[in-house]
Amino acid sequence: MNYLNAKSAPAREDRLKANIAFGGTCADIKNRIKEGCFSGKGCLNLADRRFTQTQGCQFTLSLAILNTLRNAVIIMHAPIGCGACSINNVGVNQTLKRLRDPLAEGVIWLSTNLDEADVITGGERKLREAVLFADREFRPETIIVANGCVPALIGDDIDSILADLDAQTAASIVPIHCEGFKTKVMATAYDAVYHGILKKYVKKPDRREYIAEPDIEKIKEQYRISRNVNVLNVGSMSRQDELELQRLLNAIGLNVTFIPCYAEPEDFEYSLESSLNVSICGTHDDYFVEHLKEKYNIPFLVDTIPIGRKNTDRWILKIAEHFGFEEEARRLIELENKLLDESLEPFRRTLSGKSAFLAGGEVRIIATAEILQDLGMKVIGFKAHHFDQFIEPIFDALENIDDVLIDVATNQPFEQSNLLNRLKPDVLIAHVGGNNIAAKHGIPILPLFGPSYNYMGYSGVYEVARRLNMVVRNYQFNKKLSQYTRLPFKKEWYQKDPFTYIKNPDAV
Ligand code: SF4
Repeated sequence: MNYLNAKSAPAREDRLKANIAFGGTCADIKNRIKEGCFSGKGCLNLADRRFTQTQGCQFTLSLAILNTLRNAVIIMHAPIGCGACSINNVGVNQTLKRLRDPLAEGVIWLSTNLDEADVITGGERKLREAVLFADREFRPETIIVANGCVPALIGDDIDSILADLDAQTAASIVPIHCEGFKTKVMATAYDAVYHGILKKYVKKPDRREYIAEPDIEKIKEQYRISRNVNVLNVGSMSRQDELELQRLLNAIGLNVTFIPCYAEPEDFEYSLESSLNVSICGTHDDYFVEHLKEKYNIPFLVDTIPIGRKNTDRWILKIAEHFGFEEEARRLIELENKLLDESLEPFRRTLSGKSAFLAGGEVRIIATAEILQDLGMKVIGFKAHHFDQFIEPIFDALENIDDVLIDVATNQPFEQSNLLNRLKPDVLIAHVGGNNIAAKHGIPILPLFGPSYNYMGYSGVYEVARRLNMVVRNYQFNKKLSQYTRLPFKKEWYQKDPFTYIKNPDAV
């Protein structure tokens, strides 16, 4: 894979044949993966809906990652509304940045505020002014320019302007081409961000040139690199998640560097001094690790996500195999499983037999279902933002899942509401920020992730069980909501098949 000569990353519909419209069972999805579902009859690629209620935008998801970077100013080259999501990021990101560096700035973001007149005259003047202002006012190490649909549609020559400004600013300038209209698969944002990072941030650190060889310092340096792994964190991880994964990898003798979220520019340079890139989530990272392998020959691991006991066992073992540390890993896994099993017992008594529906990113929901099965719960439905090949290994940890319904939909709350009404789960575990309609169904809801909570590793299993136990026992607020508010869709919709508006993929 090498797309770095291109101006921007390709859309995931093209590169991965990812899908955003499907309704069926997990067995259907698994069979399509086995049969090479991304081509030929029954192809899910480019499947669509006759009616669509809401969809994701890669610009907003790109900002969710870019806003985590330290020593950077973010310029949104777009109308002001495109960046509204950044308001949500400000508080949390400042806190999480300061957990890594107490002196870190919060999120600094500017908008070029493009309007109707700029659509006619062009947005180039505003972009130049914003970049020079950011450099003068904030003195950042990096200025990141993310562009929305408007400058792409009116043809602003962003790369030429930024190349020209690069010579005039103390900060280095990183263009991120993430216009929303380019893709229906929101996860293209990960590639758009990594594309910019790979082109501007990732380069061999200078300091290694100064180490004389052969000498003891050089040997020590090589030893350190041979024990170091980059763990590619995701924006939905908490600091507790990172500390748990660090604890587990330290226990088998490895050091850990976390990138890209909350990293600063030089962290990407030193990330080349590692022996293995370890993905938390293939959907998030494949573009980055493939390019690092191609360009710098650093091997990578893209497999499962360490959420749930079996997934965590597998994630640790796969990493350990690369270093020949299987024995250490097996000892650790045995001990952790024993401790975890004992600690889950009280929660199993409350939660066993309860049914659950999970909604959110494909990798996270399937992995989190493993925790529920571990607690004796019954998984009765999924709604995944999208679907691609990285879902495959995550199914391995689940049992009796073939008949479970899965809806592939980025947002589309009307489909989820129909499914919840039909399946009547005892609890919903869902992506944060869009559960207002679901709450009106009167069911308890546990967020699928959260910046203050631990979901990953063995301690994550315990924490999910503990919090699930609390929300299932007390969800008075949602009960009252269902009694005193109405669902926003007509009764007739609830009589219809939830997948009515998905076009038959075979006919695509
Ligand atoms: S789709 Fe385009 S116009 Fe809409 S928020 Fe995304 S970048 Fe802005």
